[in-house]
Amino acid sequence: DKYLADENRYEKMNYRRTGNSGLLLPELSLGLWHNFGKNDNFNNSRELLKCAFDNGITHFDLANNYGPPPGSAEKNFGKILKKDFKSYRDELIISTKAGYGMWPGPYGDLGSKKFLVASLDQSLKRMKLDYVDIFYHHRPDYDTPLEETMGTLDLMVRQGKALYVGISNYQPEEAEKAFKILKDLGTPCLIHQPNYSMFNRWIEDGLLDLLGKEQVGAICFSPLAQGMLTDKYINGLPKDSRAVKDSPFLNTNQVLDMLPKIKALNEIAKNRNQTLAQMAISWILKDERITSVLIGASKTEQILDIIKATENTSFEPNELEKINNIVTS
Ligand code: NDP
Repeated sequence: DKYLADENRYEKMNYRRTGNSGLLLPELSLGLWHNFGKNDNFNNSRELLKCAFDNGITHFDLANNYGPPPGSAEKNFGKILKKDFKSYRDELIISTKAGYGMWPGPYGDLGSKKFLVASLDQSLKRMKLDYVDIFYHHRPDYDTPLEETMGTLDLMVRQGKALYVGISNYQPEEAEKAFKILKDLGTPCLIHQPNYSMFNRWIEDGLLDLLGKEQVGAICFSPLAQGMLTDKYINGLPKDSRAVKDSPFLNTNQVLDMLPKIKALNEIAKNRNQTLAQMAISWILKDERITSVLIGASKTEQILDIIKATENTSFEPNELEKINNIVTS
């Protein structure tokens, strides 16, 4: 039972240019932070990747530490690539990152050349790849000179271990410095990966303007606020949801606090004939400076729901005003 991708996959997705680079990314990308670790159902992980690719999602986002345990998402992804995607490598954009704690001692964290070089080599081995398409510095390191960290990204590209480089979680001021260093080295920064959703608006305070001005791409993570911006929590807390399962990153109290806002937003979505998940993603895609929205999914049905978000990405001024009033109330 060899996997053959849907022939019509490229008709189902729009692709946006990443900054002023040559690279087009799908409006939706799939991240492997949750649901691809050692203790997750391997066949479900496989089905998620196939479902995404069948719908034109050509970009899969990983990091050294995704699992749990750290590294296991890359290992599983490597297995699935070999089983199902062998003949599709050149149709995929695969990214990984380093910047959070990965192994003990002074060389397993943050932004030194020593850490980043070793981490990318480990990631390539786990995924059984010769190169990744995008390598990111995962978070800023205020103690390592930015010249060292950015110089390492440039080195990776020159060594052929990464085709493009990006940064994640950098504030505008340090991002601007990083862009300048990379440009001077001859390896322009392809993309920035920030957290962004209706519930987390920080990039509107400077970063988006910077990315637009510098023509660097933007790929936004946790667009559904980890699942809160969907209708799944409105009638109770499902047992198999991230907030109820053992994720340290989302708990039930966070969800309950947001519930009144979630319910109010769900009414606006209904009036637009969208699900809340679709509206939350359309709302991000309305801005042309955004290259891609980086979703997560635990079930293929979630991907099939979200995919429809690309069909309606325009908002009336009064809808935007209502949304702003709800999220800032
Ligand atoms: P989302 O905000 O998209 O949350 C995804 C979760 O929402 C799913 O796992 C699922 O949760 C739920 N969900 C998705 N679709 C639906 C739907 N249609 N109906 C109901 N529930 C739905 O993104 P993530 O927080 O997962 O982040 C996405 C990716 O971003 C990561 O995989 C990673 O690649 C990247 N990321 C990067 C970071 C960085 O520092 N650079 C940090 C965090 C993420 P459930 O399990 O409850 O079903």
